[in-house]
Amino acid sequence: MTRSRVHLPSRPTWRCQGCGIAWPCSAAKLRLLGEYRENRPALLVYLATLQAEAAEQLAELDCGTPPDRLAERFLHWATPRGQPYLSGPVEPEVR
Ligand SMILES: [Zn+2]
Repeated sequence: MTRSRVHLPSRPTWRCQGCGIAWPCSAAKLRLLGEYRENRPALLVYLATLQAEAAEQLAELDCGTPPDRLAERFLHWATPRGQPYLSGPVEPEVR
């Protein structure tokens, strides 16, 4: 019997139940893109909802400070090119 990995977020840590990295992982993204292929706006609404939930729960874990770049993590990858989803500029990652 093969155990299939379920790429869903664990709460309140928001790591993938399947691969343990920060959710959404690539597998989760692929699945979501497939599921919402015909309805990208619905996907963005769904992701925005999850992002709000994650911000709250992650902030609780970290003394009230929500982590940076949640919008990038949850929404950026699903946003069609040329359609800005944020009012401000997205800062490039400098590390
Ligand atoms: Zn995963």
